[in-house]
Amino acid sequence: ADKLNQEISAILIGNNVAELTSTLIASGADKVFLIDDPVFKHYSTDAYVKVMIDLINEYKPSVVLVGATNNGRDMSARISCRVGTGLTADCTSLEIDEETGLVAWTRPAFGGNIMAVILCPNHRPQMGTVRPSVFKKPEPEHSRKGEVIKIQANVKPEEIRTRFIETIELEDAISCNLEEAEIIVSGGRGMGKKENFKLLEELAKILGASVGASRAAVEDGMIAPIHQVGQTGKTVRPKIYFAFGISGAIQHLIGMSTSDVIIAINKDADAPIFKVANYGIVGDVMQVIPAMIEQFKKFKNIE
Ligand code: FAD
Repeated sequence: ADKLNQEISAILIGNNVAELTSTLIASGADKVFLIDDPVFKHYSTDAYVKVMIDLINEYKPSVVLVGATNNGRDMSARISCRVGTGLTADCTSLEIDEETGLVAWTRPAFGGNIMAVILCPNHRPQMGTVRPSVFKKPEPEHSRKGEVIKIQANVKPEEIRTRFIETIELEDAISCNLEEAEIIVSGGRGMGKKENFKLLEELAKILGASVGASRAAVEDGMIAPIHQVGQTGKTVRPKIYFAFGISGAIQHLIGMSTSDVIIAINKDADAPIFKVANYGIVGDVMQVIPAMIEQFKKFKNIE
């Protein structure tokens, strides 16, 4: 927006969410469109898409960015289709193309083997999604001033075809809050079998970490898909990322290589993961993890 000399507006949809407007302004929004109504208490595709389309048609933004969360993915594809434009999903970098002034959306293509730069010259708005943790959050500037524009929701309950029934908490919701985690212990196919992930869980508990996994570990049924890190899993940016028995395929690296410190444990000294790791241990995970558990327990005075 600064490069194009344009302003940034945030769209805040929910129920009793007005207090979040100041956070959005402190984080860079010049305007906040606030749509606060009980109809938005729980996410529904119909209601959120309707509001977004009404806003786009009225204000005609040049660019619309949506967070590639579960809900964001759900609605962004539908919105782009309804307004007749394209959508570049899961971008890893955003620039302004010097020649055309268009947004240059960058995302992995062909299984992560190339980074494609995509322009949307003929249709508006230009639309894309970015996963949580791909960019570093800006430090909030609480002195920033911005305008809050209240929008009356024009969604009738009968227009919503799905109904909220109940929330079911995931049993391991804490240990797989990967996008917010400061420490992640991740296991790959080298963990061998499902039971061995118990050791990773024990280590995670001691460190206050979340448990991640490679796609191979997920495909082998060692852990649930919600733990997967990488191109088709979550993008993470923890302070410390432990990779146990993970080879370091490009599709995995895409999801974790911006972690502050990477510690890789692999029995193959030539594994590609060591190229991105800050620290490496060449060894068997089944020897290294119990040794780490013992040392961290001592360090933290845990019996
Ligand atoms: P492997 O490549 O099999 O590596 C296992 C590693 O463990 C080896 O390096 C081995 O030396 C080591 N090892 C074995 N035994 C031990 C031991 N006892 N102690 C120590 N080390 C040991 N992958 C992802 O992770 N995330 C994604 O989101 C993802 N998306 C993909 C999307 C597409 C379109 C495609 C084509 C692939 C995708 N993949 C993804 C798969 C990816 O290409 C790799 O196949 C996968 O990451 C490999 O997982 P891994 O490293 O656990 O297994």
